Amino acid sequence: MATQWTCPHCRHPQVRTEDNSATAKIHLDLGVTNIGDTSFEYLAMRCLNSDCNQLSFNLGLGSRRWDQLQHRNVYDYSLWCDAIYPSSAAKPQPDFIPEVIVEDYYEACKIQKLSPKASATLSRRCIQGMIRDFAKIKAPSLYKEIEKLREAITDGSADRSISEESVEALHAVREIGNIGAHMEKDVNHIVEVDEEEAGILIELIEQLFDEWYGEREKRKARLDRVRKVADEKKAVKAQAAT
Ligand SMILES: [Zn+2]
Repeated sequence: MATQWTCPHCRHPQVRTEDNSATAKIHLDLGVTNIGDTSFEYLAMRCLNSDCNQLSFNLGLGSRRWDQLQHRNVYDYSLWCDAIYPSSAAKPQPDFIPEVIVEDYYEACKIQKLSPKASATLSRRCIQGMIRDFAKIKAPSLYKEIEKLREAITDGSADRSISEESVEALHAVREIGNIGAHMEKDVNHIVEVDEEEAGILIELIEQLFDEWYGEREKRKARLDRVRKVADEKKAVKAQAAT
C-alpha cells in the first residue's frame, strides 16, 4: 500500500511504494525475555528526488505475540524505535544562516531524545544567537532580549522580516515550565526539560529560520531580479541612443 513519506535528508515529500522501500520483521530466536518474544523490524527508504537519492534507515525493537482472535502475530515496537540513518530529524539549512547558529540547531536535534536538557540548552543558545545576529538586540538574559524584541516590534524599529507572530511564539515559550522559569539565567544554565519541551524549542528555531532569514533572503532575491531587469533595460536604451 502506498503511503506518504518525507525524506529526512532533503524534505522532499513523496509516496512510499514497493519500488523505493524495503521492510522486514525479524524474530529473534533467543528464548522468552522479560518483554516476551522479541522481534525487530527495519524500514529502508530510497529518496526519489534525483538530486538527493539518499538512503534512510529506521529500526524498531520490541515484542511479538500471537493474537488468537486475529490468527496472526501482533508486533509492538514501543520498547525502542528510532531513525538509524540519518540519526537526526534536523532539516537541512541554507548557507545564508550563520554557521555557528545552524551548528547549535543540528546538535540540539541530534541529542533531543538522548538528552533533552542538553538539547534545550543548545536551542536556547541558538535562539539567543539569532536575536543577537538578526535583530541586533543584546541584553543580559534571553528573557530580557525577547522583551526588547517585543518593544522593537511595537515601536517599528525591528527588521521587516520579524513578524509579530514570531515574537509572540518566542514569548509563549517563556510560559513553558522550566524553560520559562530559568530564562532570566544565562542560556548555558542546564534546565530539566522533557523530550517534548526540547522539541518545541527546535520547532521554534525552524520557524525563525524560515520567517527571519528565509524571508529576508527572498526579498533580496526579488530586489536583485528587479535591479537586473532595470540594468538590462538601461543598457538597451543606452545602446539605442548611440
Ligand atoms: Zn531526499
